[in-house]
Amino acid sequence: MSPWFGKAIIVASSIVMVIIRAPHGQRSRRVKVVRSRRGSLEIVLLALAWLAFFVPLLWVAAPVFALADYSPHPAPLLAGVVCLAVGLWLFARSHADLGTNWSITIEVREKHQLVTQGIYRNLRHPMYSALLLYSLGQALVVPNWIAGPSYGVAMALLFAFRLGPEERMMLEEFGKDYEEYRGRSKRLIPGVW
Ligand code: SAH
Repeated sequence: MSPWFGKAIIVASSIVMVIIRAPHGQRSRRVKVVRSRRGSLEIVLLALAWLAFFVPLLWVAAPVFALADYSPHPAPLLAGVVCLAVGLWLFARSHADLGTNWSITIEVREKHQLVTQGIYRNLRHPMYSALLLYSLGQALVVPNWIAGPSYGVAMALLFAFRLGPEERMMLEEFGKDYEEYRGRSKRLIPGVW
């Protein structure tokens, strides 16, 4: 099977991801940040996430990771496409529901509202679930041991260190409302955790 299927899918899904995020990024930039929890670890992990986003695209463009290539198979490719599609849908939905309360990092914006409706009703971090699902899709679609899992590793690291501080910040900001919301919702996996 030709690796070009995987390459075309990676380029298309990366473009869709940028298209989904761009208007929300622009809109949020216009809303003032009133509190930020962006420490040095968060900055390093965010930089790593940015780099990791480009690794699969680098694999598409040049044979820099050729040593780690393996033969692509239709079954993981198909499963990967499903993960990418569902991940992108969830990414778009969570961006739409979060609106201008979204930030690339852990911060509170002016007139910040606690969102507990839509995709946030039963899940506190649907955007992180979306990005993890998207990463799994990449790992399945890219037949390369480095470029395939690179974004997933970066995302897993970022969220492992971010979930606790983000929830503590939301608890300080929204008190009882967030405590109740936390009690009736799951973190990343619907109905499980
Ligand atoms: N963790 C969420 C949001 C990611 S964006 C998710 O995965 O869907 C990160 C920012 O969103 C944080 O800085 C925080 O200020 C904000 N945020 C997180 N949960 C929120 C909620 N339920 N309502 C409003 N803002 C929220």
